[in-house]
Amino acid sequence: MTSEGAADALRLASWAAHDAASRGRVYPEPSPEMRGEFQRDRDRIVHSNAFRRLVYKTQVFVNHEGDLYRTRLTHSMEVAQIGRTIAGVLGLHETLTEAICLAHDLGHTPFGHAGQDALNECMREYGGFEHNLQSLRVVDLLEERYAEFPGLNLTYETREGILKHCSLNNARQLGELGERFLRRGQPSLEAQLANLADAIAYNNHDVDDGLRAGLVEMDGLREVTLFGREHAAVMARYPALTGRRVIHETIRRMINRVVRDVVETSRARILDSGVRSIDDVRTQAEPLITLSDAVRTEHVELKRFLNANLYRHHRVLGMTDKARKVLRELFEAMMGDIDLLPREHRDAAALAEQSGGKSGRARVVADYVAGMTDRYAIGEHRRLFTPADPF
Ligand code: MG
Repeated sequence: MTSEGAADALRLASWAAHDAASRGRVYPEPSPEMRGEFQRDRDRIVHSNAFRRLVYKTQVFVNHEGDLYRTRLTHSMEVAQIGRTIAGVLGLHETLTEAICLAHDLGHTPFGHAGQDALNECMREYGGFEHNLQSLRVVDLLEERYAEFPGLNLTYETREGILKHCSLNNARQLGELGERFLRRGQPSLEAQLANLADAIAYNNHDVDDGLRAGLVEMDGLREVTLFGREHAAVMARYPALTGRRVIHETIRRMINRVVRDVVETSRARILDSGVRSIDDVRTQAEPLITLSDAVRTEHVELKRFLNANLYRHHRVLGMTDKARKVLRELFEAMMGDIDLLPREHRDAAALAEQSGGKSGRARVVADYVAGMTDRYAIGEHRRLFTPADPF
C-alpha cells in the first residue's frame, strides 16, 4: 500500500470503511500492489469515459451558456473536496468518500434534471430511467476498459455509495446491493457523507452561478437566513468591500458554517449511537451523517429559494423545455430506427431486443442518449432534425 493508502488506514475510526474489510468486487481481483482498494476505485472512476463527459454536461446552465458556470465535472469536484474535508475530521475513509463523490453523477443525462425527466418519461413503459441507478449501470456495465470484466468492477462500498436512492422494485433486482432499501438499513458513513456533500455543494455554488447569471438578486438572497446572516457579517467586518469579493466571501462562510455543523452534529450522533463498525452503521434506522435541525431548516430555506427563483426562472425553464424536446425527439427517432445509432450501439440494441424485446432495445437507446454530453445531443439533434433547430 502506498503512503496515501497507509495514511488513510492510520486515520480511520472503527466506524469507517476499511480497505482490508471491503466486501470486495463482483469479479474477484488480486489486491492492488501500490494502492488501497478504494484508491483503485477512485482512479478507475477518474480514467473512465463517463467522467470526462461530465465536463460537457449541465449542472443548472447548459454547457454553452458560459464558461464560468459549474458543469457536472466541477460540481463533482466541489462535492469531493467538501466530502474529503469532513471525512478527515470524522475519521472516515477520505479516498472512498472521494470516489463516491466523483462517481455520483456519472449516470446523469445531458441537460440536468430536465434531461432525466424527459428520458424517464420516454422509458415509462420500459422500466423507467433514474440517473442514480444509471450511475451504477455506468460503473457496473457500460464502461469498456478492462479485458477481464465489463464496467469498472468497483468495490461493494463504492457501488453502495453511488446508489443513493432506489425503488423497491429495482432494489429486488439488485441482490446484495439492493438489500438495504428492502430492510431500511443505511449505507456506510462515507456514502451518507457523499450524499450530504452533494447537497451542500449545489446549494452554495448555485447561489454563485445564479448571481453571476443575474437570475437571482442580492436583495432576495439577503432575506434568506443562511445568506443574510453571513452577508451581514461580511459587510460589518469589511464595510468598503464590493462586488464579487462580497459574494464569494459570503458563500465561503456559508459553506464553512454548514460543514462545521455537519461535523459537530454527526460526531455527536455517531458517539451517541454507540456504533463500532461499518456493519453497526448499516443497521441503524437513520443516517448518522446529518445537519442539526436548526441548520437543516436554513439549508432547506435556501434550497426553496433557489427552487423558486433559479431553477424555475423563466430563462432556465425556457432552456429546460428545449432540452426536454431534444432528448424526447432523439430517443423517439432512435427507438423507431436503430440504424440512427452508431454501429456498436446498434448491434447492442439488436442483441438486447432478441433477449428482452422492445424494453431491451429501449434500454440500449436510453444508455446511448443518457451518455451524450449537452453539445453532442444538440449536434445529433441538429443532424437528425435540420432545419428545425431549437437552439
Ligand atoms: Mg450531484
